[in-house]
Amino acid sequence: MAEEQLELNLELAPRVDADIVYEEDEPILYEVRNYVAYITLNRPTLHNAQNSQMLYALDDAFARAVDDDAVRAIVLRSNGKHFSQGHDIGTPGRDFEKPMDRRLMWYDHTNKPGAEKAFAREQEIYLGMCKRWRAIPKATIAQVHKGCIAGGLMLAWVCDLIVASDDAFFQDPVLTMGFPGVEYFAHVHEMNVRVAKEFLLLGERMSAARAYDVGMVNRVVPRAELDETVAAMAERIARQPRLGVALTKQVCNHIEELQGKSTGMDAAFGYHHFAHAQNSLVKGDYIAGHDLKSMAASNRSSSQDKSSA
Ligand code: ZN
Repeated sequence: MAEEQLELNLELAPRVDADIVYEEDEPILYEVRNYVAYITLNRPTLHNAQNSQMLYALDDAFARAVDDDAVRAIVLRSNGKHFSQGHDIGTPGRDFEKPMDRRLMWYDHTNKPGAEKAFAREQEIYLGMCKRWRAIPKATIAQVHKGCIAGGLMLAWVCDLIVASDDAFFQDPVLTMGFPGVEYFAHVHEMNVRVAKEFLLLGERMSAARAYDVGMVNRVVPRAELDETVAAMAERIARQPRLGVALTKQVCNHIEELQGKSTGMDAAFGYHHFAHAQNSLVKGDYIAGHDLKSMAASNRSSSQDKSSA
Protein backbone atom coordinates (compact mmCIF):
# COMPACT_ATOMS: atom_id res chain seq x y z
CA MET A 1 0.00 0.00 0.00
CA ALA A 2 1.42 3.39 -1.03
CA GLU A 3 2.05 5.76 1.81
CA GLU A 4 -0.23 8.73 1.88
CA GLN A 5 1.40 12.16 1.69
CA LEU A 6 0.36 14.16 4.71
CA GLU A 7 -1.13 17.52 3.79
CA LEU A 8 0.09 20.28 6.04
CA ASN A 9 -0.48 24.01 6.02
CA LEU A 10 3.04 25.39 6.51
CA GLU A 11 1.68 28.70 7.80
CA LEU A 12 3.97 30.83 5.69
CA ALA A 13 3.51 34.36 4.39
CA PRO A 14 4.92 35.78 1.17
CA ARG A 15 8.30 37.48 1.57
CA VAL A 16 8.27 41.25 1.07
CA ASP A 17 10.54 42.62 -1.62
CA ALA A 18 11.92 45.68 0.12
CA ASP A 19 14.23 48.22 -1.45
CA ILE A 20 17.31 48.21 0.77
CA VAL A 21 20.09 50.71 0.14
CA TYR A 22 23.14 50.31 2.36
CA GLU A 23 25.08 53.55 2.76
CA GLU A 24 28.12 51.79 4.28
CA ASP A 25 29.95 48.69 3.06
CA GLU A 26 31.57 48.39 6.47
CA PRO A 27 29.01 49.16 9.18
CA ILE A 28 31.53 47.87 11.73
CA LEU A 29 35.24 48.72 11.81
CA TYR A 30 37.78 46.51 13.54
CA GLU A 31 41.34 47.07 14.64
CA VAL A 32 43.70 45.66 17.25
CA ARG A 33 46.19 47.82 19.15
CA ASN A 34 48.23 46.81 22.21
CA TYR A 35 46.26 43.57 22.67
CA VAL A 36 42.94 45.42 22.63
CA ALA A 37 40.34 44.99 19.88
CA TYR A 38 38.54 48.21 18.98
CA ILE A 39 35.16 47.51 17.44
CA THR A 40 33.54 50.63 16.03
CA LEU A 41 29.92 51.15 15.01
CA ASN A 42 30.18 52.84 11.65
CA ARG A 43 26.94 54.25 10.33
CA PRO A 44 27.91 57.80 11.28
CA THR A 45 25.54 59.63 8.95
CA LEU A 46 22.61 57.74 10.53
CA HIS A 47 23.77 58.09 14.13
CA ASN A 48 24.59 54.38 14.15
CA ALA A 49 21.04 53.15 13.72
CA GLN A 50 21.33 49.39 14.11
CA ASN A 51 20.17 47.43 11.08
CA SER A 52 20.72 43.70 10.59
CA GLN A 53 23.75 44.39 8.41
CA MET A 54 25.41 46.18 11.33
CA LEU A 55 24.41 43.71 14.04
CA TYR A 56 25.61 40.64 12.13
CA ALA A 57 28.86 42.46 11.34
CA LEU A 58 29.13 43.25 15.05
CA ASP A 59 28.64 39.57 15.86
CA ASP A 60 31.43 38.75 13.37
CA ALA A 61 33.71 41.30 15.00
CA PHE A 62 33.10 39.97 18.51
CA ALA A 63 33.75 36.42 17.25
CA ARG A 64 36.99 37.57 15.63
CA ALA A 65 38.13 39.22 18.86
CA VAL A 66 37.28 36.11 20.88
CA ASP A 67 39.18 33.89 18.43
CA ASP A 68 42.34 36.01 18.37
CA ASP A 69 44.69 35.03 21.22
CA ALA A 70 46.43 38.39 20.83
CA VAL A 71 43.21 40.15 21.86
CA ARG A 72 42.89 40.37 25.65
CA ALA A 73 40.18 43.04 25.96
CA ILE A 74 37.52 44.52 23.70
CA VAL A 75 36.32 48.11 23.33
CA LEU A 76 32.98 48.87 21.68
CA ARG A 77 32.73 52.46 20.47
CA SER A 78 31.18 54.55 17.69
CA ASN A 79 32.00 56.83 14.82
CA GLY A 80 29.78 59.84 14.41
CA LYS A 81 27.88 62.32 16.52
CA HIS A 82 26.15 59.74 18.76
CA PHE A 83 27.03 56.34 20.18
CA SER A 84 23.79 54.90 18.77
CA GLN A 85 20.31 56.22 18.23
CA GLY A 86 18.90 52.70 18.56
CA HIS A 87 17.44 50.14 16.23
CA ASP A 88 16.96 51.08 12.61
CA ILE A 89 13.26 51.88 12.23
CA GLY A 90 13.44 53.80 9.01
CA THR A 91 16.68 54.45 7.12
CA PRO A 92 17.13 53.39 3.47
CA GLY A 93 19.34 50.61 4.88
CA ARG A 94 16.62 49.20 7.07
CA ASP A 95 16.77 45.51 6.22
CA PHE A 96 13.94 44.04 8.30
CA GLU A 97 12.71 42.06 5.27
CA LYS A 98 16.07 40.54 4.38
CA PRO A 99 16.81 36.91 5.35
CA MET A 100 20.16 36.81 7.15
CA ASP A 101 22.72 34.15 7.92
CA ARG A 102 21.49 33.53 11.44
CA ARG A 103 23.68 32.76 14.48
CA LEU A 104 21.22 31.25 16.92
CA MET A 105 18.66 28.50 16.45
CA TRP A 106 15.74 30.67 15.45
CA TYR A 107 14.18 30.11 12.04
CA ASP A 108 14.03 32.79 9.36
CA HIS A 109 11.45 35.45 10.18
CA THR A 110 10.92 36.97 6.74
CA ASN A 111 8.24 34.52 5.53
CA LYS A 112 6.36 34.21 8.80
CA PRO A 113 2.86 35.65 9.29
CA GLY A 114 1.56 38.15 11.82
CA ALA A 115 3.27 38.69 15.14
CA GLU A 116 5.51 35.67 14.59
CA LYS A 117 7.65 37.65 12.15
CA ALA A 118 8.96 40.26 14.61
CA PHE A 119 9.05 37.70 17.44
CA ALA A 120 11.35 35.33 15.53
CA ARG A 121 13.54 38.18 14.31
CA GLU A 122 13.97 39.83 17.69
CA GLN A 123 14.61 36.53 19.49
CA GLU A 124 17.61 36.17 17.23
CA ILE A 125 18.91 39.61 16.52
CA TYR A 126 18.10 41.56 19.68
CA LEU A 127 17.58 39.34 22.71
CA GLY A 128 19.60 36.33 21.55
CA MET A 129 22.63 38.15 20.18
CA CYS A 130 22.79 40.52 23.15
CA LYS A 131 22.81 37.61 25.59
CA ARG A 132 25.50 35.98 23.47
CA TRP A 133 27.67 39.12 23.55
CA ARG A 134 27.26 39.50 27.32
CA ALA A 135 28.72 36.01 27.71
CA ILE A 136 31.91 36.71 25.72
CA PRO A 137 34.81 35.32 27.80
CA LYS A 138 36.95 38.45 27.34
CA ALA A 139 36.38 41.77 29.09
CA THR A 140 34.38 44.32 27.12
CA ILE A 141 34.21 48.07 27.63
CA ALA A 142 31.54 50.28 26.07
CA GLN A 143 32.94 53.71 25.22
CA VAL A 144 29.90 55.97 25.06
CA HIS A 145 29.69 59.53 23.78
CA LYS A 146 26.56 61.65 23.25
CA GLY A 147 23.34 59.74 22.58
CA CYS A 148 22.94 56.17 23.78
CA ILE A 149 19.29 55.65 23.03
CA ALA A 150 16.96 52.63 23.19
CA GLY A 151 18.73 49.84 21.24
CA GLY A 152 21.96 51.79 21.93
CA LEU A 153 21.51 50.98 25.61
CA MET A 154 21.45 47.28 24.77
CA LEU A 155 24.92 47.43 23.22
CA ALA A 156 26.35 49.39 26.15
CA TRP A 157 24.65 47.18 28.75
CA VAL A 158 26.03 43.90 27.39
CA CYS A 159 29.55 45.20 28.02
CA ASP A 160 31.29 44.63 31.34
CA LEU A 161 32.26 48.24 31.88
CA ILE A 162 30.79 51.47 30.56
CA VAL A 163 32.90 54.61 30.29
CA ALA A 164 31.08 57.74 29.20
CA SER A 165 32.16 61.20 28.16
CA ASP A 166 30.58 64.05 30.08
CA ASP A 167 28.38 64.90 27.09
CA ALA A 168 26.83 61.40 27.00
CA PHE A 169 23.18 60.74 27.76
CA PHE A 170 21.09 57.61 28.09
CA GLN A 171 17.44 57.24 27.20
CA ASP A 172 14.81 54.60 26.58
CA PRO A 173 11.86 56.39 25.00
CA VAL A 174 10.06 53.34 23.56
CA LEU A 175 7.05 53.69 25.86
CA THR A 176 6.04 56.33 23.27
CA MET A 177 5.47 53.33 20.97
CA GLY A 178 3.66 51.38 23.68
CA PHE A 179 6.59 49.18 24.75
CA PRO A 180 7.66 48.32 28.29
CA GLY A 181 11.29 49.05 27.41
CA VAL A 182 13.70 47.75 24.79
CA GLU A 183 14.04 44.04 24.04
CA TYR A 184 17.05 43.41 26.30
CA PHE A 185 15.34 44.39 29.55
CA ALA A 186 18.30 45.03 31.85
CA HIS A 187 16.92 48.32 33.15
CA VAL A 188 16.21 47.05 36.67
CA HIS A 189 19.71 45.57 36.88
CA GLU A 190 21.43 48.67 35.56
CA MET A 191 19.75 50.96 38.10
CA ASN A 192 17.50 50.43 41.07
CA VAL A 193 13.85 49.67 40.36
CA ARG A 194 12.50 53.10 41.31
CA VAL A 195 15.02 54.88 39.10
CA ALA A 196 14.32 52.35 36.32
CA LYS A 197 10.60 53.11 36.54
CA GLU A 198 11.32 56.84 36.24
CA PHE A 199 13.68 56.19 33.32
CA LEU A 200 10.96 54.18 31.52
CA LEU A 201 7.81 56.07 32.49
CA LEU A 202 9.18 59.54 31.73
CA GLY A 203 11.42 58.42 28.89
CA GLU A 204 13.72 61.35 29.54
CA ARG A 205 17.42 61.64 28.96
CA MET A 206 19.65 60.59 31.81
CA SER A 207 22.88 62.56 31.91
CA ALA A 208 26.25 60.83 32.19
CA ALA A 209 26.62 62.37 35.65
CA ARG A 210 23.38 60.82 36.88
CA ALA A 211 24.14 57.52 35.14
CA TYR A 212 27.34 57.50 37.19
CA ASP A 213 25.43 58.32 40.39
CA VAL A 214 22.99 55.44 39.88
CA GLY A 215 25.82 53.03 39.14
CA MET A 216 25.15 52.44 35.44
CA VAL A 217 28.50 53.75 34.24
CA ASN A 218 31.96 53.21 35.70
CA ARG A 219 33.61 56.50 34.83
CA VAL A 220 32.68 59.85 33.32
CA VAL A 221 35.48 61.83 31.71
CA PRO A 222 35.77 64.94 29.55
CA ARG A 223 35.15 64.11 25.91
CA ALA A 224 38.76 64.92 25.00
CA GLU A 225 39.99 62.27 27.45
CA LEU A 226 37.55 59.51 26.51
CA ASP A 227 39.77 57.63 24.04
CA GLU A 228 42.84 57.62 26.24
CA THR A 229 40.94 56.71 29.43
CA VAL A 230 39.26 53.71 27.80
CA ALA A 231 42.48 52.59 26.10
CA ALA A 232 44.35 52.73 29.42
CA MET A 233 41.65 50.71 31.18
CA ALA A 234 41.49 48.13 28.38
CA GLU A 235 45.29 47.79 28.29
CA ARG A 236 45.34 47.33 32.05
CA ILE A 237 42.80 44.49 31.77
CA ALA A 238 44.76 43.05 28.82
CA ARG A 239 47.66 42.44 31.22
CA GLN A 240 45.49 40.49 33.68
CA PRO A 241 45.47 36.67 33.48
CA ARG A 242 43.19 35.51 30.67
CA LEU A 243 41.36 32.77 32.54
CA GLY A 244 41.07 34.95 35.64
CA VAL A 245 39.31 37.61 33.56
CA ALA A 246 36.95 35.03 32.05
CA LEU A 247 36.16 33.58 35.47
CA THR A 248 35.60 37.02 37.00
CA LYS A 249 33.07 37.82 34.29
CA GLN A 250 31.43 34.47 34.67
CA VAL A 251 31.01 34.71 38.41
CA CYS A 252 29.60 38.26 38.24
CA ASN A 253 27.22 37.26 35.46
CA HIS A 254 26.23 34.15 37.34
CA ILE A 255 25.27 36.18 40.40
CA GLU A 256 23.13 38.37 38.16
CA GLU A 257 21.48 35.18 36.92
CA LEU A 258 20.74 34.19 40.51
CA GLN A 259 19.03 37.58 40.80
CA GLY A 260 16.84 36.54 37.88
CA LYS A 261 18.33 38.64 35.11
CA SER A 262 17.74 36.27 32.18
CA THR A 263 14.41 34.89 33.29
CA GLY A 264 13.13 38.39 34.01
CA MET A 265 14.38 39.48 30.62
CA ASP A 266 12.60 36.57 28.93
CA ALA A 267 9.35 37.56 30.63
CA ALA A 268 9.84 41.20 29.61
CA PHE A 269 10.47 40.06 26.03
CA GLY A 270 7.05 38.38 26.05
CA TYR A 271 5.37 41.61 27.19
CA HIS A 272 7.37 43.56 24.62
CA HIS A 273 5.97 41.31 21.90
CA PHE A 274 2.46 41.51 23.26
CA ALA A 275 2.88 45.27 22.74
CA HIS A 276 4.14 44.68 19.17
CA ALA A 277 1.01 42.57 18.51
CA GLN A 278 -1.29 45.14 20.13
CA ASN A 279 0.28 47.86 17.96
CA SER A 280 -0.41 45.78 14.88
CA LEU A 281 -4.03 45.21 15.91
CA VAL A 282 -4.82 48.73 17.03
CA LYS A 283 -2.50 50.91 14.94
CA GLY A 284 -2.01 48.64 11.96
CA ASP A 285 1.77 48.74 12.42
CA TYR A 286 3.94 46.79 14.84
CA ILE A 287 5.81 49.89 16.00
CA ALA A 288 2.66 52.03 16.12
CA GLY A 289 3.44 53.88 12.90
CA HIS A 290 6.57 55.48 14.30
CA ASP A 291 9.80 56.03 12.40
CA LEU A 292 13.12 57.70 13.21
CA LYS A 293 11.72 61.14 12.45
CA SER A 294 8.64 60.87 14.64
CA MET A 295 10.63 59.37 17.51
CA ALA A 296 13.24 62.13 17.23
CA ALA A 297 10.48 64.77 17.26
CA SER A 298 8.83 63.23 20.30
CA ASN A 299 12.22 63.03 22.02
CA ARG A 300 12.91 66.67 21.35
CA SER A 301 9.58 67.77 22.76
CA SER A 302 9.78 65.64 25.92
CA SER A 303 13.45 65.40 26.74
CA GLN A 304 14.89 68.37 28.41
CA ASP A 305 17.42 66.91 30.74
CA LYS A 306 15.48 67.33 33.97
CA SER A 307 16.96 64.16 35.32
CA SER A 308 20.42 65.54 35.96
CA ALA A 309 19.27 67.60 38.92
ZN1 ZN B 1 10.80 44.94 19.42
